[in-house]
Amino acid sequence: MNKLVIENLKVKIKNTDRIILDGFNLTIKSGEIHVIMGPNGVGKSTLSKVIMGHPDYEVLEGNIYYNDTVLNDLTTDARANLGIFLGMQNPIEIEGVTNADMLRTSLHSKEGNDFKLYDFIKDMDKYVKELNMNPDMIHRGVNLGFSGGERKKNEILQMNVLKPSIVLLDEIDSGLDVDSLKIVGDEVYKYFKKYKPAILLVTHYQRLLDYIKPDFVHIVSNGKIVESGDFSLVKKIEDEGYNKYIDKKNESIGTCAVKSVVSHE
Ligand code: ADP
Ligand code: MG
Repeated sequence: MNKLVIENLKVKIKNTDRIILDGFNLTIKSGEIHVIMGPNGVGKSTLSKVIMGHPDYEVLEGNIYYNDTVLNDLTTDARANLGIFLGMQNPIEIEGVTNADMLRTSLHSKEGNDFKLYDFIKDMDKYVKELNMNPDMIHRGVNLGFSGGERKKNEILQMNVLKPSIVLLDEIDSGLDVDSLKIVGDEVYKYFKKYKPAILLVTHYQRLLDYIKPDFVHIVSNGKIVESGDFSLVKKIEDEGYNKYIDKKNESIGTCAVKSVVSHE
């Protein structure tokens, strides 16, 4: 059983005074699916990037643990090799590195002497077919010229090949047409059933959750989780919106920070 524990996390954007997360707590364990929802700009992507060790953010207080290991000072590749994976909201293009090269190198680095080239190629081909991706894509530069939806499928291809135990998926549904949404949703759920990872999904829409049934739903506002519940919370948000969760008194954190920055100028 693996777990990711986020304990009293306070995060700011480097070289600014802007605090994005403050007092953030969350534990996710193998075999659990958690959903994070919240207004735009509240820090959902920041959370997933901080877990991976993105250099734009600074942890001021608190800890992130993978089992008993403190992640705070580990490099991104060390975190990935432990089995933590992020499917990004906006995957970037990398010219000059093909998808196949990146995946082979990543998996080799994770598996060390256990890495078997033939198994890797077989596995990759299988998932390219399952995801209904054009087979040429694996020999193209990472995401080079890919549409938004193709990039999202490519993130899921990476998840399938790298076999992480902690899976963070940031708006994996954005940019997908209905058919691709079903393919991606089914593929993630199949991975969940087979490998029992801990999954943290960020989404705005219930439609993804038709395929990936969450156990826990959390609402983020003003830098922290303000409410947790089961699937019924998703329906409540779709009906009522986030208004009641935005704390007008706490304007320096999260959603209201832009207003606060502007008012200081
Ligand atoms: P969301 O909840 O929509 O995913 P984000 O985590 O992307 O929100 O962003 C939270 C806030 O922090 C936003 O206002 C965003 O513009 C700002 N922000 C995030 N990363 C950076 C950065 N590297 N530089 C400047 N501002 C940033
Ligand atoms: Mg985001």
